Amino acid sequence: MVDVEDLSLVGTHCPYCALQCGMTLQVRRAEQGQAMVTVTPRDFPTNRGNLCRKGWTCAELLSSPERLTVPLVRRSRSEDLVATSWEEAIDRTVTALTALQERYGPDSIGVLGGGGLTNEKAYLLGKFARVALRTRMIDYNGRFCMAAAATATRRAFGVDRGLPFPLSDIERTDLLILVGVNTAETMPVLLGHIERMRAAGGRLVVIDPRRSATAELADIFVQSTPGADIALAQGLLRLVIDAGLVDEAFVAARTRGFDEVRAHAMGFWPERVEALTGVSIVQLRAVVEELRRAQTTILLTGRGVEQHVTGTHAVLAYINLMLALGRVGRPWCGYGSVTGQGNGQGGREHGQKADQLPGYRSITDPCDREHVARVWGVDPEQIPGPGVPATEILTKAGTEDGVRGLLVFGCNPAVSAPEATRVENRLRSLDFLAVADFVLSETAALADVVFPVTQWAEETGTMTNLEGRVVVRRKALDPPPGVRSDLEVLAMLATALECRSAFPSDPAAVFAELRRASSGAVADYAGIDYERIVTEDGVFWPCPSADHPGTPRLFLDCFPTPDGRARFHVVPSSSADEAPDVEFPLCLTTGRLLEHYQSGAQTRRIDPLRRAVPTSYVEIHPATAQWYGVTDGDTVRVRTRRGSFVTTARVTTKVAEGTLFVPFHWGGAERANNATRAVTDPESGIPAFKLSAATVEAAARMSP
Ligand code: SF4
Repeated sequence: MVDVEDLSLVGTHCPYCALQCGMTLQVRRAEQGQAMVTVTPRDFPTNRGNLCRKGWTCAELLSSPERLTVPLVRRSRSEDLVATSWEEAIDRTVTALTALQERYGPDSIGVLGGGGLTNEKAYLLGKFARVALRTRMIDYNGRFCMAAAATATRRAFGVDRGLPFPLSDIERTDLLILVGVNTAETMPVLLGHIERMRAAGGRLVVIDPRRSATAELADIFVQSTPGADIALAQGLLRLVIDAGLVDEAFVAARTRGFDEVRAHAMGFWPERVEALTGVSIVQLRAVVEELRRAQTTILLTGRGVEQHVTGTHAVLAYINLMLALGRVGRPWCGYGSVTGQGNGQGGREHGQKADQLPGYRSITDPCDREHVARVWGVDPEQIPGPGVPATEILTKAGTEDGVRGLLVFGCNPAVSAPEATRVENRLRSLDFLAVADFVLSETAALADVVFPVTQWAEETGTMTNLEGRVVVRRKALDPPPGVRSDLEVLAMLATALECRSAFPSDPAAVFAELRRASSGAVADYAGIDYERIVTEDGVFWPCPSADHPGTPRLFLDCFPTPDGRARFHVVPSSSADEAPDVEFPLCLTTGRLLEHYQSGAQTRRIDPLRRAVPTSYVEIHPATAQWYGVTDGDTVRVRTRRGSFVTTARVTTKVAEGTLFVPFHWGGAERANNATRAVTDPESGIPAFKLSAATVEAAARMSP
């Protein structure tokens, strides 16, 4: 007897990180009628038939008992969320938004998006905020991840694309330098490219304050002090200059501003850099020796470098190093930033970011505004100006200076935002909060209205991976009855708000409009369509026309700056902006684990992942642990000036003495972001997640 019926076999991509690994979903219907989805890896350039544990188990969430299938509403602040109809959910939302805007003005409503939303959703959300709500106050959670690298690469190269080359270039480079990147845990499938590089004779240098799983694989591991990247990069540049490794011909022909940077680097002599970074002169010279031996080099930064008050400057310092070596803009060479979220790249290209319109068009440039206004069918004057970064929206929410109502799509700031206790209080103080999600995340649990929306395999849409390659995730099965897509929610809200511009809910129609809106811009998608993406295993932007091949490698001939040259930047010296002191003598840094993704709203609901790492922990060096009377497995409280969280101690030499590392994927009492700082890099708005002065208390001495 046949007990299952084959429904579909769909080639698609993983719902999680920016590698967007290829996978095939086999959908079958069991006798009881429910759909069963099986994941198998697919040969795709980023994963070559591999998946990590998160990818293998991702289909579990499709049938999770915690799945939201009906809208929820909180009829008064003292009541719980209860099930309601879509009509009431939309009506309540529009009534609240309209009343607040009539009383406090258009900017009293904020919109927060996410780097996991498809390009179509990110695009329509930006249009909804600016056209239907007429608010400036839109930003997205990519501000917490990619903002520093985005700002730095725009300044240095004229464009922000995470990797300006295909990932497979790693396999052909002589030397890969990873700075603040723990790919073995955050993006394990990328290790395949590194293994192939090493099989071909390539070398790996890892620079990180923590002896991470990636550091264990390195030919040279450089353990630096948290927040010491600017001094370290300048010190390496000084040694590169001293060793005569500057590519003078490249610098003269393709860059501007090196003389000032060369002079500035002279102030970073090895002894000084050793004192500033904790990295010995021997190790500094060893890295420079690797650079001398290599003909080609790729240098990648991650959040370890970027999530600091000086994040943009730290990235610029490493870009200076690569430009001086002439190892940018030629094959198997380059600087890149490893994007984290699945659509962290596309999510910032198409209008969720406070200062950008679709295609990376500038919201302050009259020509850009006119182009987008034409596509949207509005007067350019009607498009509001730039807003403020996500952290500012959140920390001022519910105050006189902040938004009074907030719409959240694809984002869980109650766990992922810095100073999360304060953010949670701000969210509670809002006059109105609506959240679109497929599970009751910590943020959704605070909302007045919750929209149950589709998840990845139940809808079609494009994502742009860390290489700037646009891929399509195809619908494999119908969503549960009662669930709508985010596009449908936006269309319903726009209609109820009596907005006259078009808000299509069909992803293909939205993508067609996005192509027109991005046409002629930096991130030009005009020549990309779903069919082409599938046929060509993704298409790299810019791709201005149907007969254009796409652009896997940027900068080969010139940089997209006004004069075609890259820019060096003199990076000011800086010391840690929150140095440890007597009260808080330790350095707290946060990060990610292999088993969990972002705020954990999805992966904490997947059995094998939850069982593998059920709770948070803090890594503490044996000497530090002994000093504080902490033993392995103890319950401890980690405290900073912002707040505290409770977790379990793991005594390990992975971290240096005086450093605490904690993953940030949990809410409640374990929420690491209770203790992080909402202070941001003034250049990019990225929060300083990676460095907080902290202390730790053993359970026995824990205050009540
Ligand atoms: Fe998914 Fe990233 Fe794992 Fe690939 S590496 S399977 S994209 S989580």
